[in-house]
Amino acid sequence: MTTIHTLGYPRIGADRELKKALEGYWRGDLNRAALESAASAIRLAGWQAQREAGLDFVTAGDFSLYDHVLDTSAMLGAVPPRFGWQGETVDIDTLFRMARGRAPSGAPAPACEMTKWFDTNYHYLVPELHADMTFRLASPRLFDEVAEARAEGHRVKPVLLGPLTWLWLGKCRDGEFDRLTLLDRLLPVYGEILQRLAAQGVEWVQIDEPILVLDLPGEWRAAFEAAYNRLSGAGPKTLLTTYFGGLEDNLHLACHLPVDGLHVDLARAPRQLEPVLDKLPAWKVLSLGILDGRNVWRADPDPLLARLRPVTGRLGDRLWLAPSCSLLHVPQDLGRETGLDDELRGWLAFARQKLDELQLLRTALDAGEAAVDAELTAARAAANGRRHSARIHRPAVAERLAAVTPAMGRRGTPFAERYARQQAWLKLPPLPTTTIGSFPQTAAIRATRRDWRRGQLDDATYRRRMQAEIAEAIRRQETLRLDVLVHGEPERNDMVEYFGEQLGGFAITEHGWVQSYGSRCVKPPILYGDVFRPAPMTVDWIRYAQSLTERPVKGMLTGPVTILNWSFVRDDQPRRETARQIALALRDEVQDLEAAGIRVIQIDEAALREGLPLRRGEWQAYLDWAVNAFRLTAGGVDDGTQIHTHMCYADFHDILPAIAAMDADVITIETARSHMELLEAFRAFDYPNAIGPGVYDIHSPNVPTVEEIHALLRRAAERIPLERLWVNPDCGLKTRDWPEVEAALAAMVAAARRMREARISGAA
Ligand code: GLN
Ligand code: ZN
Repeated sequence: MTTIHTLGYPRIGADRELKKALEGYWRGDLNRAALESAASAIRLAGWQAQREAGLDFVTAGDFSLYDHVLDTSAMLGAVPPRFGWQGETVDIDTLFRMARGRAPSGAPAPACEMTKWFDTNYHYLVPELHADMTFRLASPRLFDEVAEARAEGHRVKPVLLGPLTWLWLGKCRDGEFDRLTLLDRLLPVYGEILQRLAAQGVEWVQIDEPILVLDLPGEWRAAFEAAYNRLSGAGPKTLLTTYFGGLEDNLHLACHLPVDGLHVDLARAPRQLEPVLDKLPAWKVLSLGILDGRNVWRADPDPLLARLRPVTGRLGDRLWLAPSCSLLHVPQDLGRETGLDDELRGWLAFARQKLDELQLLRTALDAGEAAVDAELTAARAAANGRRHSARIHRPAVAERLAAVTPAMGRRGTPFAERYARQQAWLKLPPLPTTTIGSFPQTAAIRATRRDWRRGQLDDATYRRRMQAEIAEAIRRQETLRLDVLVHGEPERNDMVEYFGEQLGGFAITEHGWVQSYGSRCVKPPILYGDVFRPAPMTVDWIRYAQSLTERPVKGMLTGPVTILNWSFVRDDQPRRETARQIALALRDEVQDLEAAGIRVIQIDEAALREGLPLRRGEWQAYLDWAVNAFRLTAGGVDDGTQIHTHMCYADFHDILPAIAAMDADVITIETARSHMELLEAFRAFDYPNAIGPGVYDIHSPNVPTVEEIHALLRRAAERIPLERLWVNPDCGLKTRDWPEVEAALAAMVAAARRMREARISGAA
């Protein structure tokens, strides 16, 4: 018999119950018991679903009140000293203070850093490491959850984040040191955890070590052997899981660690099946991640069965099947998407449906296809439909793509020449001031959008109200004497969904939420088919904004790579092809904006860097097509039209050449949080075009002073010639309120003026 299981299940609840419970608890409207009971209900429902689908185990320990890396830190007693934690076990308020700086009880303290989990859009809290830290078992949550599942009569497989991955994700505080020196102190706690799980009657433990798919230094590989040798035999059987890529040079290592089973990702790295089969010792379990845990497509059963059949013969009972990774990264239940038509729904599988797919594959393998004939026929028909549907394959899109020439991605003249022309006719002063696009999304704006969506507000009223918001934003910017204005994006819920709603080839779900971090969720659009633009998407709003002012208004678009990286993307053609399709659709929008008299256009590429492959060897290929997609979007305008781009992350020193290759006239970037550290990168690499290094951190409610901004600008001026320096905040302002925004921008404009005056008097 083949075993089926999952590495993890969505944990926010079918209706985002976790979000509501957390926010209620943080506000003080819900007590701790109520929060815990909401959490328990989510876990029980997840286990019930796994059982109904016939899984051989339910997975425990994949749930988290905030983040599973944070939970691991808590379990290991790795609480930074500033949180003043002294208890026997880490209480939830300490956990929440680590996550977000404050909680209903306990003194506020700066939160731990948050960053992206591998190449996903999920964020984890970075473990803080220091050379003399010690560890001890400091949270019973995992054991409680195991007991809770057992009390429901489930066969439980708990999951632990492995010691090497936990250390790798950690960052040294108070000075660099070799993180591996902590391993000796860490392993006894892992040993204790395994023993306790064994005492609870657990047969199998899943230990996640996803760093095995990265380029690992030799010491880390060696540490794997040493660590797992020490842990082996301590408790239940262990299934070591790897995901998000192929093992490649770590394959031999992973196959021979002293564990009882290995899970590999066959969605991302299908070709590793044969080498793993060859290398894996004959007594070990092999768990194959055959369903894509990162995407929403229903599986095509025949190719999968064809691959699996010989493996069943070879492995027998040692074969396990699972999604490639935890289902945390996909929405919970397609059954709720009643707004999607049947054909489209037939192409999709969310977490709940993926469990059924496992069951289907298992039955087909073990009992024969006849046992599940009807289900297989339906799945085959859906796969076939997807291959041929005219909604997916549009000859007109293919023809346009075939006609793309390299010249379409090139501006007519070199930067220096066209930039001088742009600045002159846009009548911009030196060190021009601007913002990144969005202004405060007030309760009134959100209510207007919501009412309109629900059909409670007619189009004309909606339009009038949004225009009033735009007019107000323009008025405020004129009063502030900003140089390049924006319309403020009141009509946009989200910078990707807004475009997904209007582009052909995209579907928007109603409940397709995925956890981003803690209580925050995102609802990525589903990009299922060839992309086209039925009509202009932003032109009316921007044109209206421009009609109200003499100053240039900047048109605002989300770039092709960001739309791609923040959507669920079709898997039937390379991502680079899909990026080109989006680029062509956006190119039309850019040209329509230009034709409407908009001569500054910003194309945001907030997600360009996070799309980088996990293995360095694959970076260049990605950067090449990503840069080309941007250039195809932007390259069709006259040289007098100024193209901006914006990116919000500080660490892109390692991709500066690619960013330069995008050839945007102006790039605005995050820098304030790192005190312009990024500028160091400009010492090594001479960025050729204009730059606006963000001069204040929009994530903080603190209003910067003129002096602070001026000091940052002077630092920036040491690296960037004044003629190419812009002045702007770090990112969009939608999460702030107007009094903060006006005060901060007034200080920013004053600081820019001071720089200009100093320049005129020769004192800069
Ligand atoms: N134009 C967007 C805004 O201002 C950019 C958001 C982002 O970079 N994440 O909100
Ligand atoms: Zn940003």
